[in-house]
Amino acid sequence: MLADSYGRVATDLRVSLTDRCNLRCTYCMPPEGLEWLPKPELLTDDELLRLIRIGVDLLGITEVRFTGGEPLLRRGLPGIIAGTTELSTRPRTALTTNGIGLARMAPALAEAGLDRVNVSLDTLRPDVFETLARRRRLSDVLDGLAGAADAGLTPVKVNAVLMRGVNDGEATDLLHYCLERGYELRFIEQMPLDAQHGWRRDTMITAEEILAGLRAEFVLEEADAGTRGSAPAELFHVRGVRFPNGEQATVGVIGSVTRPFCGACDRVRLTADGQVRNCLFAREESDLRSLLRGGATDEEIARRWSEAVAVKLPGHGINDPSFLQPSRPMSAIGG
Ligand code: SF4
Repeated sequence: MLADSYGRVATDLRVSLTDRCNLRCTYCMPPEGLEWLPKPELLTDDELLRLIRIGVDLLGITEVRFTGGEPLLRRGLPGIIAGTTELSTRPRTALTTNGIGLARMAPALAEAGLDRVNVSLDTLRPDVFETLARRRRLSDVLDGLAGAADAGLTPVKVNAVLMRGVNDGEATDLLHYCLERGYELRFIEQMPLDAQHGWRRDTMITAEEILAGLRAEFVLEEADAGTRGSAPAELFHVRGVRFPNGEQATVGVIGSVTRPFCGACDRVRLTADGQVRNCLFAREESDLRSLLRGGATDEEIARRWSEAVAVKLPGHGINDPSFLQPSRPMSAIGG
């Protein structure tokens, strides 16, 4: 098991398939992009699948989420998903994407066994999208959402980050849009993980502010008191509203900074260049790639992996005066 000294057990593996992306979101990277990881350092599809198999067969991983950068840019994505879902103890699978190209790829991903998707959508306004992502691709993202729903990659979840003075006035519009289409919307507090190290607490829209903004138009009732478990999102029922499939409509808030949920964390991460991160904000990593390429056995790799998780800190430490942002940017860690 991937247990740490606080009694938490990691069962949810987040796999970054690439650090490259086709957007340039202001809260993630500079307009010119970043120096991408050198190709020889990236894990091959076979190496990735071997590590996923070790995680599932030897270390108790039950859920695998594919992230990036932008995972749809990974050429072997359908094969990686198929190789994962063909494992004897089939893990649940999910993908976090910016949605660009999803409309075209969704049927093949569903065919490969992908269960569901989370799509990033911070605005419904093309001008604001261009300001935030520095690309004119909003319609591709909206088509991607519809394509995922049509392909049965459900529930389709939407991740939205609100930025003060940019899109923070769009919370209720985003919720209306998602409720009408049956998408489960989650608002995420902006985290200090951008490559420019420009995050400022006062520009972050807090969970409290998000809820206050939504309550201007919706009646929200706590949905998961006591049943939340390790889920990052606090869920709320939207009173009197049902999704198109008849289920009670919900909206979620992920208060990573002001309402941390590290105490029940069950996540562990694998980077595209074969490093284990026991926390999104870990300042140290554990190298599995050199073991892989050095002829190590599955058991030796599993041991190094569990040693990496055993030393996991109690939380992200963002609210500690001594907090230091990790050197690896979000785009090379994944959601
Ligand atoms: S910040 Fe780290 S410990 Fe906290 S929930 Fe995220 S991954 Fe887990």
